[in-house]
Amino acid sequence: MSYKILPLQTNRQERNKFQIPLNTIYFCGNSLGLCPIESEKVVNQIIQEWEQNHIHSWNLAIQLPLKVGNKIGKLIGAEENETIIADSTSINLFKCLGTSIAIQKIKNPNRRSILLDRENFSNDLGLLKLLSTDEYKVRYFDDENQLEDFLNDDVVCILLSHVNYHHGKLYNIKKITEMVHKVDAFIIWDLCHSVGSVPINLTEVNADFAVGCTDKYLNSSPGAPAFIYVNKKHQNVTWQPLTGWLGHQSPFKMSKDYEPIVGIKNFLVGTPEVLPISIIDCSVEITLDAGMQLIRKKSLALGDLFIFLMTEKCPSFKLVTPFEYEKRESHLSYQHENANEISKWMRKRNIYSDFISPDILIFAMTPLYTKFVDIWNAIENISDIVKNVESKNFDESCVSLN
Ligand SMILES: *Cc1c(COP(=O)(O)O)cnc(C)c1O
Repeated sequence: MSYKILPLQTNRQERNKFQIPLNTIYFCGNSLGLCPIESEKVVNQIIQEWEQNHIHSWNLAIQLPLKVGNKIGKLIGAEENETIIADSTSINLFKCLGTSIAIQKIKNPNRRSILLDRENFSNDLGLLKLLSTDEYKVRYFDDENQLEDFLNDDVVCILLSHVNYHHGKLYNIKKITEMVHKVDAFIIWDLCHSVGSVPINLTEVNADFAVGCTDKYLNSSPGAPAFIYVNKKHQNVTWQPLTGWLGHQSPFKMSKDYEPIVGIKNFLVGTPEVLPISIIDCSVEITLDAGMQLIRKKSLALGDLFIFLMTEKCPSFKLVTPFEYEKRESHLSYQHENANEISKWMRKRNIYSDFISPDILIFAMTPLYTKFVDIWNAIENISDIVKNVESKNFDESCVSLN
C-alpha cells in the first residue's frame, strides 16, 4: 500500500463561515454538520418578514422548496426543476418507491421484486405493506458484486445508498445505474452520505430517483427537511402516492378531485418548513462557492493523512472502509475491540466521532471546516488513549492532554 499526501491548502475562508466549537475536534459532520454563522441572520429575516408582512409573507415562503431544491440540484448534477425540498428522507423514499411501482405498473406490469441493500439505513418499506406484501417481494442483496445475479426482468426498482453508512463504501453510481437500466428497472439513490461530500452527476447517468438529507454534509440544522430528485422522464407519467394539497394543480381551489400539478412540485405534500429551508438556502451556498471538485480533493487528502497516521500511531485499529479513492467518501470506519471505551475517552478530550455498536468508530471529515492539523492532534490523542485503555492504566489525569 502506498500513501500520497497532497499538499493542499485548508480553505480558511470556508471554515470562517461556521461556528467552530472551541477546543474541539469534530468528526461527526456526516451525522450533523456544524452551524453556518449566516444561519442566525436568515432565520431572523424570515421572522421579521412574518412580523411585518403577516399573511403576505407566504408569497416568498411558498417559493422556497423549489428555489432551494434547484440549488441542491446543482450539487447533484440535476437539471432545473428536478429537485425539490420536502419532508424527511424516509417520507421521500416512500414517494419514490410508490411512483416507481406506479410507473412500472404501466410499463412492465408483471414485475414483482424490489431490491434492497441488506445494510441499507432506511429499510422503510411501509408502502409494501399498504400494497399487500403478497403482491411485491423484497429481495436483499449483500454486496455490489451480487447485484448482477439479482437483476432480471422481474425487478421493479432498487433502492441503494450511494455510501454505506456503516463501512463507508462508496458505490459507483454510473456503473450500477447502467446495470439497472439494462433490465429496464429503476434505481432510487439515497444520497444522504454523499451529497456535499462527493461530486454527483445524476443527469450524466440518467438516474431515475434520488433522495438525501441536508443536516449532514450540507450543514443545515438538526432535522432540516430532505430533498427529492425525480428525473424529468418520470414526472407527469402518474402522480406520487402521498397526494397532499400542495401537490395539487390549484392548491387554493380546495377541489375535492385530485389533479396533480405538472412537474416536480407534485412531490410536495403539505406546507413547507420555511425556517429550516432558509438555513439550507444559505448553507448550500457555502458548498456551491467552494465547489464540489475542490471539496472532494481535500476530502481525499484529509483521508490519506488520517489513514497514514492511524497506520503509524494506532496499528490496533483496523480500517474497514476500502482504501481506493473510487470506493471511499469522506468518512472512514475503523474497527477496534475497545471502540466504545476509546470513544468515551475521546469525548472527554473534546474529540467527537460516531460509535456504531459493537466495535466501529466513524471519523467523518468535512473539507469545509476540518483542518489537517485537527487530524494530527486527534490521532496523537487517540494513540495515547489506546495505550492507556490497553494497559488499563487510566485515571482522570489522562483527560487533560491536548
Ligand atoms: C440520515 C439518513 C437518513 C435520515 O432519514 P430521515 O427520514 O430524514 O430521518 C436516511 N437514510 C440514510 C442513509 C441516512 O444516512
